[in-house]
Amino acid sequence: MKCLICARYCVGQRDVRILQGQGPLHQACLRTLQFAKRQYLGLDLTAQKDEELAQLVALIENELASRNNRSHKPKTECYIRTTLQ
Ligand SMILES: [Zn+2]
Repeated sequence: MKCLICARYCVGQRDVRILQGQGPLHQACLRTLQFAKRQYLGLDLTAQKDEELAQLVALIENELASRNNRSHKPKTECYIRTTLQ
């Protein structure tokens, strides 16, 4: 079977996903599709309010900062910066 997005064969390959009722696709192609639709892990970013997106950005920045350097304080100013723009 071929990938729904790139049309290359994907049966037997690693990182293949199945879209219910549609068919298989590569994990990377799924990410590309979700990015184009502005969705991630089932979250439709286009449906979120500006304030909700700003909170999500701050949450992600804090998590990344926490993972990259656990000795630094969380970037609480990120939330303030993004919500005041
Ligand atoms: Zn593909």
